[in-house]
Amino acid sequence: MSVLVVGSTALDSIKTPWQENPRLLGGSASHAAVAASFFGPVRLVGVVGDDFPRRYLALFERRGIDLEGLQRAPGKTFHWSGEYEVNMNNRRTLKTELGVFETFRPALPPAYRRTPYVLLANIAPELQHHVLDQVVRPRWVIADTMDLWLNIALKPLIRLLRRIDALVLNDSEARQLTGEDNVVVALRKIHHLGPRIVIVKKGEHGAILSGPDGLFLAPAYPLDKLVDPTGAGDSFVGGLIGYLASQPGSLRRNLRRAVLHGSAVASFCCEGFGLTGTLKASLAKIRTRIRAWERMTRI
Ligand code: AMP
Repeated sequence: MSVLVVGSTALDSIKTPWQENPRLLGGSASHAAVAASFFGPVRLVGVVGDDFPRRYLALFERRGIDLEGLQRAPGKTFHWSGEYEVNMNNRRTLKTELGVFETFRPALPPAYRRTPYVLLANIAPELQHHVLDQVVRPRWVIADTMDLWLNIALKPLIRLLRRIDALVLNDSEARQLTGEDNVVVALRKIHHLGPRIVIVKKGEHGAILSGPDGLFLAPAYPLDKLVDPTGAGDSFVGGLIGYLASQPGSLRRNLRRAVLHGSAVASFCCEGFGLTGTLKASLAKIRTRIRAWERMTRI
């Protein structure tokens, strides 16, 4: 089944202590859509400016990502730049230039309205609402967010939590949203705000899935070299929903495996700048990492 992904489609300039790369293909929706495309058909909703390189559009097309919902507007593409410290858990945003994103209103082509799986990747909560207003009876909706929206758009974000099946956020965001340091208590508080499924990402320490079947602890794949973690969170949720949409049977039964597939795709993302690590992955390589986890966690 198809997955609809809405979010940012960006040019990212990324600096690490060892390397600098300007104007890479980035954005929450780009990472998530490519991650989901390992498993099945993906529809991308976003906006790019007239400076968006043709080769990046071709890359999406080569992966079978449907671009009917990708608006092309006069002006500059959303541009984000960030810098990592030697400890790559620490990242600083250097600049965010909204460009065509400033006036973006996602409009779903009629063919997209009945997409069963919907990923509201990281963008302003108002835009996430606007997409939900246009989809017809989706089977499963998951949303991602970031600290910026907790700071400047908390009200619409809280309203969104009543409209979605699942929320994914990182541990510091969970703390900020609930005012609670203990992640187990924070999860409980987030469930009370709406979503039946909550996933807290803990970077190199994996992710915690919380839902009707209790807690599930998913490890992060142990990597010996981290090149660029930008987009790992987006790849995680993209891989997760892509896998879920590709599987027959009950969502509830497939969810834990979906979290592992998301973690596996995220690990590939961290192994290269921008999307290069993810693009070196394949379904076979993803499965190999999942088998390795099974060996590493068996007692
Ligand atoms: P992550 O590493 O998962 O936090 O995601 C990084 C991606 O988020 C980059 O590719 C950026 O282009 C994108 N991004 C950064 N700031 C924003 C924002 N305010 N809204 C939407 N996407 C953003």
